Amino acid sequence: MTRALRLLISAGPTREPIDPVRFISNYSTGFMGAQLAAEAIARGHRVRVVSGPISEALPPQASVVRVETAADMERALRRSAGWADAVIMAAAVSDFRPRVRASSKLARRAGAALRLEATPDIIGRLPRRPEQVVAGFALETGRVVAHAKRKLREKRLHVVLAQHASARAAETARGSPFGRRRVRAWLLSVDGVVRPLGRRSKRDVARLLLDKVEALWYGQHNPAWRSVHAPTR
Ligand code: C5P
Repeated sequence: MTRALRLLISAGPTREPIDPVRFISNYSTGFMGAQLAAEAIARGHRVRVVSGPISEALPPQASVVRVETAADMERALRRSAGWADAVIMAAAVSDFRPRVRASSKLARRAGAALRLEATPDIIGRLPRRPEQVVAGFALETGRVVAHAKRKLREKRLHVVLAQHASARAAETARGSPFGRRRVRAWLLSVDGVVRPLGRRSKRDVARLLLDKVEALWYGQHNPAWRSVHAPTR
């Protein structure tokens, strides 16, 4: 007998304010998170989405919390972490934020040196429930599998969906894996398996990722699962 899962999914970019009218962000549109939420609901799961600012529609059956910054996203995810059987961190959290948010609009003549700091690693320090399955994404311009393996280990993930971003994506949204386009992807899991997926639509990627999360969750009553997949803390 299987039961429906409680899935917590993050989606979209975050915005890190520079001053009252400007922010640092990225090209994420929330399409991957929206596909995951739609596919999970089609499979009968309960879905909560914590989303940065996106224009993609999220399924009406999902409960949705809208956030702006990485700090907001972390607070919202922490509130639902204890509820979730599985967490899928599809959001493109900004890795950097200004150290201070200017209280008034910065004038062009003031120059442009911004002091940045790293945002907290949300998924790596989210409180874990026993048996909870935790999946993340890795977007890399090179050595995709090697970097994704390191993220799997360092962030204590059970699954990583790794995607290739062409170096051109650093300059323009063209050629970037964000939005409604096919991506070159790999699925890595904590059992050491690295599965190249080739070029896929995000709908396919969502299905394959959910297949893996479900397999880990429903397989966990098998004693072999515990020794390999149980979170370490
Ligand atoms: O940015 P990075 O490549 O380290 O992101 C990999 C994974 O970690 C993604 O699932 C992303 O949502 C998550 N992440 C996070 N907190 C951050 C940055 C990324 O949880 N500050």
